[in-house]
Amino acid sequence: MAVMIWLLILVLGAIALAFMEAAGWMWAAALATLLVAAGATKIVPFVLMVPLLVLLAVVATSLLVPALRRHIYTGPVFAFYRKILPPMSDTERDALEAGTTWWDGQLFSGKPDWDDLLRTPAPKLTDEEQSFLDHETEELCAMIDEWEIVSTLHDLPPEVWAFIKDNGFLGLIIPRSYGGKGFSAYAHSQIVTKLSTRTCAGAVTVMVPNSLGPAELLIHYGTEAQKNHYLPRLARGDDIPCFALTSPHAGSDAASIPDTGVVCMGDWQGKETLGLRVTWDKRYITLGPVATVLGLAFRAVDPDRLLGGAQDLGITCALIPTDHPGVRIGRRHKPLIAEFQNGPNWGTDVFIPMDFVIGGQAMLGEGWKMLMNCLAAGRSISLPANYVGMSRLAVRAVGGYARIRKQFKTPIGRFEGIEEALTRMGSNLYTMDAARAMTAGAIDRGEKPAVLSAIVKYHLTERGRQVVNDGMDIIGGKGICMGPNNFLAIAYMTLPIGVTVEGANILTRSLIIFGQGAIRCHPYVLKEIAATREADRDRAIAAFDEALWGHLKFSLSNMARSFVFGLTGSHFVDTPALVAPETKRYYQQLTRFSAAFAFLSDVSMLVLGGGLKRREKLSARLGDILSLMYLCSATLKRYEEDGRQAADAPLMHWAIWDAMFKAQNAFEGVVANYPSKAVAWLLRRIIFPLGRPYVVPSDRLGHEVAALLIEPSATRDRLTRDMFIAKTPDDPLALIEAALPAVIAADVVEAKVRAAVKEGRVKGDTIDARIADAIAAGVITDAEAATIARAKELADRVIHVDDFEPSASVAGNAAVLTALARAA
Ligand SMILES: Cc1cc2nc3c(=O)[nH]c(=O)nc-3n(C[C@H](O)[C@H](O)[C@H](O)COP(=O)(O)OP(=O)(O)OC[C@H]3O[C@@H](n4cnc5c(N)ncnc54)[C@H](O)[C@@H]3O)c2cc1C
Repeated sequence: MAVMIWLLILVLGAIALAFMEAAGWMWAAALATLLVAAGATKIVPFVLMVPLLVLLAVVATSLLVPALRRHIYTGPVFAFYRKILPPMSDTERDALEAGTTWWDGQLFSGKPDWDDLLRTPAPKLTDEEQSFLDHETEELCAMIDEWEIVSTLHDLPPEVWAFIKDNGFLGLIIPRSYGGKGFSAYAHSQIVTKLSTRTCAGAVTVMVPNSLGPAELLIHYGTEAQKNHYLPRLARGDDIPCFALTSPHAGSDAASIPDTGVVCMGDWQGKETLGLRVTWDKRYITLGPVATVLGLAFRAVDPDRLLGGAQDLGITCALIPTDHPGVRIGRRHKPLIAEFQNGPNWGTDVFIPMDFVIGGQAMLGEGWKMLMNCLAAGRSISLPANYVGMSRLAVRAVGGYARIRKQFKTPIGRFEGIEEALTRMGSNLYTMDAARAMTAGAIDRGEKPAVLSAIVKYHLTERGRQVVNDGMDIIGGKGICMGPNNFLAIAYMTLPIGVTVEGANILTRSLIIFGQGAIRCHPYVLKEIAATREADRDRAIAAFDEALWGHLKFSLSNMARSFVFGLTGSHFVDTPALVAPETKRYYQQLTRFSAAFAFLSDVSMLVLGGGLKRREKLSARLGDILSLMYLCSATLKRYEEDGRQAADAPLMHWAIWDAMFKAQNAFEGVVANYPSKAVAWLLRRIIFPLGRPYVVPSDRLGHEVAALLIEPSATRDRLTRDMFIAKTPDDPLALIEAALPAVIAADVVEAKVRAAVKEGRVKGDTIDARIADAIAAGVITDAEAATIARAKELADRVIHVDDFEPSASVAGNAAVLTALARAA
């Protein structure tokens, strides 16, 4: 019995010390005390106790004295670590080191500082930005008829191109000093979001020049002469930019582009000039067919060592006017049904002077780093905004449609099956929008969030795809039949585009989010890797020693915290001071997830080592956990920033429960597929010691969410805020907006008629006859009868679908049908 108690104290003491991240001497003192107690109580014979104490003293000294520890333990571990560390190319290193970490680092710490997150101010627009959103952006939306573009024009009409250029839409991010708008990332995001509620072609045309492209690269890396020349021209729309990285044989693996620029002397404006002879073959380049300035990525080489350095200089970015001799701009690709300009371009042995290289000669070979840094910001803004915009359109229009459209004498939005899809739509949008705004706000505070940009790119495009897909299922045939009355099909057909670009989604989830996150956000891994690159061995071992032992303490602490939180249901975890009481438990649960995730990440890296890179399914699930914690953080922050709207609470609750359940499944998905069953067994006992506690959000909660989408309300307005709603009465969304209150008002009147029919006070074989009889019997007034008539007329127009001449439907719809088949 005494032995059992002693062992229990040993285990509990170890958990407590690990939990508190106790210093090494505290471990030694605690163990010594336990040994003495064991001797005193005869658990350990006295003759054994003294040698054991001596052994403990020797081991403790070897660990606590830095010089000894480094010599005995750290040195050999360092040598082994260096051997097993997978080789890293320069491009991989540039990608890993690009950008910054922010809240992702906190989520990796096991102890996220929620107060810190909640203190971060909500992003806001300046008066000028708000005015641009309310006027110029509104006007641009109103000018665009997307159906006309996809069915007839196949491009933005000239007056829309002119409006975009004249009003500075192409220079949103260009500083004022160069003639641009100098808007914040949040404003840029708001503008693209609003455009995306109306038009794909317009949104893409605006977002590409403001995203990863020549302007962004010039602002950060251009020479003063390049900035002075190009930025005002880009801001005014005198120059249309594109950026060409992708080659036929280098898509996802963009760093392997075969395009080359050979350093040489050549003739430029009649003078012998130092430059590059560039050969390239690019495809998929957005705005390429109409661009006047081509941003080009190629690998610079200097075989004759004209610059006196290495022969392979690395990826380089240049700006080349498209009328430069030798530049060949191809015809158009047709990206599904989206009618933005996109196409291939080529050049063979095109001589460009060194001045064309962005940043000049000094930036030869720095292109990959430049691209990765700009990607961290650009990827956080455009596509997240684009997909939130499409989702706002889907939620507002489909929610209204689901109330207007009746089957089995019931609005379809009241069927549980439809409710399920509506619930997903509403809660997904709530979270997506929260993550979009929070990430754009981080950029405005100077972050270049490499990992978070991958998270929002992947998860917002995937969730946006889910929202629009759900919407299409709900509206049935109305969504299938193309024409000006179809408000969702064009968005639906363009969904795969964002999924493919700026890091295709499968790659982003499987390789980037955790692969990059584990190294960038982990408090110690990057330090350990950096130590292996240190040339001086003593300094390398000293740096590695600090990182390694800190790492060990960190892992032990997260293991103990994860276990204790699991045992106690995380009820005793500190919560932020000023949060809504109804969300406190969520912060506690997320802290538990964070500790468990940090622990599981460490074990995964330890068990799988470099092999984790190849175990993409495990990496993807670990990335899902990190991503879901980020999405939950944004959701909770939004709830606070919106003023804890009680009416919106179901959206928030459903989103969090759904995410926690998914995160739990992702944990299980990792653990269940561990190569070692013993390690898997142990991990389950540590992370979920009492079993898996999270369940799917309840049907009752789902019902509350769905109900919010099908009636006009402040919640529905907040969920779809800043979206474009046309004022023209024939616009399909404007029709839904008009029909929704009319149908709701008419339902009340119809209920009176039905009750009177039941009581026998009103008779009639048809609805019209019953209404006439109800007026005659004084059950309803003429005005109420008019309400029913108006609702019916509007509802008929809402459910109407377009039809075309037989010849038009075959020829005109062929491309559309092909696109639809692919999108499905
Ligand atoms: C409409 C459109 C606009 C574009 N605009 C531009 C532009 O302006 N400029 C520009 O330079 N490029 C542009 N692109 C190119 C775009 O960035 C590439 O399409 C993208 O990088 C993917 O390359 P890929 O299409 O060749 O697919 P591939 O690289 O062939 O990938 C195919 C599939 O394999 C997956 N995959 C690849 N590697 C891995 C891995 N290691 N692990 C798991 N999965 C993996 C990908 O996720 C993808 O699902 C555009 C593309 C399109 C379609």
